[in-house]
Amino acid sequence: MNTLQENYYFPLDRYISQERMDRLRDFTRGKETPLLVVDLDLVRERYELFQKTMPFAKVYYAVKANPMDEVIELLRDLGSSFDVATRYELDQLLRLGVDPARMSYGNTIKKRADIQYFYENGVRLFCSDSFEDTQNIAQNAPGSKVFFRLITEGTGSDWPLSRKFGAHSDVLYNLALRARDLGLIPWGLSFHVGSQQRDIGQYDDGISRAKYLFTCLQDEGIELQMINIGGGFPANYVDPTLPMETYASEIKRFLHEDFGDELPEVLIEPGRGMTADAGVIVSEIVLVAKKAKNGLYRWVFLDVGMFGGLIETFNEAIRYPIYFDKSGKSEEIILAGPTCDSMDIMYQNFRYRMPHSCGIGDRAYILSTGAYTQSYSSVNFNGFPPLQACVLPASQ
Ligand SMILES: *Cc1c(COP(=O)(O)O)cnc(C)c1O
Repeated sequence: MNTLQENYYFPLDRYISQERMDRLRDFTRGKETPLLVVDLDLVRERYELFQKTMPFAKVYYAVKANPMDEVIELLRDLGSSFDVATRYELDQLLRLGVDPARMSYGNTIKKRADIQYFYENGVRLFCSDSFEDTQNIAQNAPGSKVFFRLITEGTGSDWPLSRKFGAHSDVLYNLALRARDLGLIPWGLSFHVGSQQRDIGQYDDGISRAKYLFTCLQDEGIELQMINIGGGFPANYVDPTLPMETYASEIKRFLHEDFGDELPEVLIEPGRGMTADAGVIVSEIVLVAKKAKNGLYRWVFLDVGMFGGLIETFNEAIRYPIYFDKSGKSEEIILAGPTCDSMDIMYQNFRYRMPHSCGIGDRAYILSTGAYTQSYSSVNFNGFPPLQACVLPASQ
């Protein structure tokens, strides 16, 4: 089934409570759109869920998913650690008083000067997947801990992170030996199964490959201490996933199957799973048009699109639940953004529905948009400012 059947196709309460929706509506009434509104209570709940379901794992929040100061401050206060990708993210975290001992430099692609900058600012945990980069780390961050990233296919995920990152086991094996020779501490292994990963078994593959390398390196006198199973944890989009609890219990089972009773240090790096469901983009319908006399579908142009934060609709990879304020009989539509680029069409194959009573000036609420939206929005394309974001005030 490639189209939504019902008049009111999104059971709203699968995504957001009526109370929260009302609060959001009240709060944004009269405000300029598009606007991303993030509910910090939901970020907190998600952090606590990760802790409760995976008490054996240490959370390194992937800052890139949603770098709002308020989100970082909340997670800082909750005790989270952070997966940092650039010196700019590092500067932000330092400004917000995050202890560098709670950070890892997780990007495998980094300038020498940036490695040095992280080192000077107290970061001692680095990720690598190549000889060249490991050598740069040895020279610019001497004596640091390094973990090595396994390559994955991203199979089963909606937004894969394959090929560009990671290396095969034999490369990492030699890399660990090399790192030791260069005075670094070979600390562990990591992988990322691909973002919005629907196939929990992909974690099993990564864990088994990591375990194999743990064992091989032991024979060389290298005792790895840590496994970093990355992100991939699900957000609540149109296509359902298994609940977080199932991810956690399966991952726990995989870990114990491979490592026995005594687990190494386990890291997780949730980005999407931490913040996506906490955000709603409030948007306005700019135009509704039928482009041909006999055209089957009306085009609905929102004031937010691919360049304004919805780039993950590329190839319709991520399907956000979209909620229109009105109800009643509905029709299938094509959804596009406001810019002068013909790529700026969000959904034309998967057909969303919009109530007939909705029109120009009405609002559309794009749910589960707290991750990879504001941080992806363009700066000035067509003069549009980057997506604005704010926090939903707490309930009284
Ligand atoms: C982006 C990224 C993450 C976050 O992934 P999600 O699927 O959003 O949870 C984690 N680790 C690394 C290294 C990343 O690049």
